[in-house]
Amino acid sequence: MIDPVLPTYSRAPLSFVKGQGSWLVEADGRRFLDLGAGIGVSALGHAHPALVQTITDQAADLWHVSNLYHIPQQQALAEKLTGETFADTVFFTNSGTEACELAVKMARKYWFDKGHPDRVEIITFDGSFHGRSSAGIAAAGSEKMTKGFGPLLPGFTHLTFGDHDALNAAVSDKTAAILIEPIQGEGGVRPVPDQCLKGLRDLADQHGALLIFDEVQCGMGRSGKLFAHEWSGISPDIMMIAKGIGGGFPLGAVLATENAALGMTAGTHGSTYGGNPLGCAVGLTVLKIISESDFLNEVNRKAGLLRQKLEGLIAAHPDIFDSVRGSGLMLGIKCKAPNMDVVNAGYDQQILTVPAADNVVRLLPPLNISDDDITTAITRLGAAAQTLS
Ligand SMILES: *Cc1c(COP(=O)(O)O)cnc(C)c1O
Repeated sequence: MIDPVLPTYSRAPLSFVKGQGSWLVEADGRRFLDLGAGIGVSALGHAHPALVQTITDQAADLWHVSNLYHIPQQQALAEKLTGETFADTVFFTNSGTEACELAVKMARKYWFDKGHPDRVEIITFDGSFHGRSSAGIAAAGSEKMTKGFGPLLPGFTHLTFGDHDALNAAVSDKTAAILIEPIQGEGGVRPVPDQCLKGLRDLADQHGALLIFDEVQCGMGRSGKLFAHEWSGISPDIMMIAKGIGGGFPLGAVLATENAALGMTAGTHGSTYGGNPLGCAVGLTVLKIISESDFLNEVNRKAGLLRQKLEGLIAAHPDIFDSVRGSGLMLGIKCKAPNMDVVNAGYDQQILTVPAADNVVRLLPPLNISDDDITTAITRLGAAAQTLS
């Protein structure tokens, strides 16, 4: 008999009843150190006092109004986001894949309004992940995500990650946009080198194509900058965000320059829930905290500490681990043992990590994880590795 919950997930035999900072409490009372943070969602950990306060206050005032009306919380969050980034304008969604939907629509509408309705092609890369909507799976293109779900949304060209020749050959005057994660998450924590992001910007400019960054996972302070592309000094025309921005409340957004957004006039897009007062109130508190330079300095310091300790861990268990990669507090341990074995052994040591492609174990701790918890994490990962040796 089918489970009352549609069985699309293979779940670990754990269920959590409470969260506090970087820790989750299991129904049986055991405490787990959370280095997954809901796949990078709980950027400020669990039950952060400022977020609890914000959502409680807002819930007492007003949960939801339609986008038929002005929503001041949306306005405030949009102003803060545009103030902190390349963007001139923001549309709010409830998730990452809805942001992908709009990014694709926006790029195509741009060319349509410019008098090039046939300029629809969007270039993407293997190993990418843009969510599970029809546009998201067509953009990623992998068999794992698309098989059985055809006919797929047409117009996507998938290139091998890092193949510069293929990229140069593929971009043409039919290219509406290039869509890329500055650091691939699901694909195995694969950063795009800063030089390559610059090269992408140049290539897009040569052909007039739009550049779309998917910072759903690598954005919101994860890399040690507010957005990962800032390390490269260039910026996109359109950017998708979600995950960390809501700190656990479902919230996403598309950020765009005024030019890229030129086709998105009244009536061209909408969302019932997107940008509701609860989500935007929480989002603004998250963004205020994360965008502080002291906060990001601490992320970078902790990232250095974690990375250094991980190098030691890998050296101590060369039969289990291979190497560490990533940026800031978005780190991947390339494993020699099967990555799921490492994740499962971690459960036995009461530490949560997240598998990714390419036999990688992902670490996406809360950005405000303490130094003590980093030390505990390394001890527990070491104990997990010991049981696999
Ligand atoms: C998680 C993720 C998405 C999809 O976000 P949802 O909120 O699950 O729809 C899109 N892109 C990237 C890079 C992601 O990590």
